[in-house]
Amino acid sequence: MLNIGAVPMLSPELLTRYDTAGPRYTSYPTVPVWNASFTDDAYAAALRAAKDTRTPVALYAHFPYCAMKCLYCGCNALTTSRPETVDRYLDDLERELDLVVSHLGQYHSTVQMHWGGGTPNLLSEQQLSRAFTLFADRFHFTSNAELSIEADPRLVSPEQLYALRALGFTRISFGVQDLDANVQEAIGRMQSIELVRDVCTSARDAGFAGLNVDLIYGLPRQTLDTFAKTIEQIIELNPDRIACFGYAHLPAQRPHQRLIDEAELPDGALRAALFQMAVHEFTRAGYVWIGLDHFARASDPLARAQAAGRLHRNFMGYTTMPASHLVGVGMSAISDTAGSFAQNEPALGAWRERIHSGRLPTVRGHTLSDDDQQRQRAILHLMCNLELPYDAVPLSRDQVETRFARFEADGLLRFDHDRLSVTATGRFFIRNMAMELDAYLPSQQAAQRFSRTV
Ligand code: SF4
Repeated sequence: MLNIGAVPMLSPELLTRYDTAGPRYTSYPTVPVWNASFTDDAYAAALRAAKDTRTPVALYAHFPYCAMKCLYCGCNALTTSRPETVDRYLDDLERELDLVVSHLGQYHSTVQMHWGGGTPNLLSEQQLSRAFTLFADRFHFTSNAELSIEADPRLVSPEQLYALRALGFTRISFGVQDLDANVQEAIGRMQSIELVRDVCTSARDAGFAGLNVDLIYGLPRQTLDTFAKTIEQIIELNPDRIACFGYAHLPAQRPHQRLIDEAELPDGALRAALFQMAVHEFTRAGYVWIGLDHFARASDPLARAQAAGRLHRNFMGYTTMPASHLVGVGMSAISDTAGSFAQNEPALGAWRERIHSGRLPTVRGHTLSDDDQQRQRAILHLMCNLELPYDAVPLSRDQVETRFARFEADGLLRFDHDRLSVTATGRFFIRNMAMELDAYLPSQQAAQRFSRTV
C-alpha cells in the first residue's frame, strides 16, 4: 500500500460515499445558473456602476489560439498556424476594450492582469507587445500590480521571456501536466523534462519573480509510480507554486476528449491516491498546501496570504489580490463586476459579430441576490480558510449541524463552539462541503455538467 506519511489515507468506503460530480466553485452561483436574460445592457450597467477609478480592478484576457489541440483540453481553445489570424483577434480585442472602457471609464487602477487561453505565448514578440499596449493605454497598473501569463513550454524562447519581462510580466505558469512519455502520448502532448528544465532556467534568468507549474492527476496511463517520478522531477525544478488539478473527463461537452481511451483512465481509488501522493510529496518537500489544489513555497505571497486569512478565490483560481471588480475580455471571458457575473460569447464568430455591431459580447450572466452574496462569501471562506463561522451562513446552527452531520460522522469536520472546522481528512472533500451551501445545485443535473469532486 502507498505510504503517504502524514497525509491521511482515504478509505475506499469514504471515497465511494463522496465520489460525486460537483462544481469547483470558482464562482457562486456557478456558470450553469447564469442565463441569457442578463444581457449586454445589464453588463454595461454593471461596468458603469464600477466606474470609480480609485476602486481597483483585475483584468483577464483570453487568447484562444494554440499550435495544436491537446486531447485532455478543457479550455476554450482554437488552433492556428497563421499569424494574421492572431492579428485579427487582436483587432477585435481592441474593439472590445474600447466598448468596455466606454462604460467603465479609462485609467482604472489595476492591481492584477492575467493572460490565459489557449496559449498566450503563441503570439510573436510584436503581437505580445501590441496586446500589452492595448491594456496599458486604457488602464493604470499600480506599481505592485501582478501581471501573469500562461505559457506552453514548447513555444517558449529565451528572447520571448525577456520580452515578457520587459513588458512587466512578473509571474509565468508553465503547463506541464505530466512528464511521463507514455502519459504524454495518451494525451497528445509531448514535452521532455529537459525542455521543461530549460524553460524554467530561462524564466529565472529573465527575472520572473514567480514561476508556476501546472500538473494534472487522473490522466490516462498515470500510475502511482509514473506520477511519483513526475512529482520528483517537478520538485527538483523548485517552482514557487504548483497547481495540481484533477482531470475533468467530459466528452459530451468536449468532443475531442473522445480520443482519450476511457479504459486507460485511473479509477476513482487510484485518482484519489494520485492526489494524496501529490499532497504528501509536495508538503514533504516544504510546499504549503493551499486551499483545494495549489501548493506554494512558504515564502510565496500565496502561502503568506493563506496564513494571514487573506486568501481569495476567483475564476483564475486562488489569488492574493482581491480586486473589487474583475473585467474579462476575449471570447468566453468572465467578468465579476458590481455584484454581477457576465460571460462573453464563447464562439469566435458570435463574439466577433457582437463586437463589430458595437455591442458588448455578453452571452449570459447573473445578478447576485443578497442570499447569493451571503452564500458566495460562505463558500469562499470555506474553500480558502477551511472553516466556516456559523454566523457566515444563511442557516441556523441547527440547520448547519443537520446539513453537515454526515461529514462530522465521517470525521471530515468538527462542530466547534462558533464555527465548523475542516479536519485534515476533510480537506479532500471541501467541494462536497461547499455543495451543501449551494442553493441551486439540486436543479442543475450536476453529473452531466461538473467534474468529479475528489
Ligand atoms: S495548450 Fe492548453 S489550451 Fe491549448 S489545447 Fe493544449 S491544453 Fe488546451
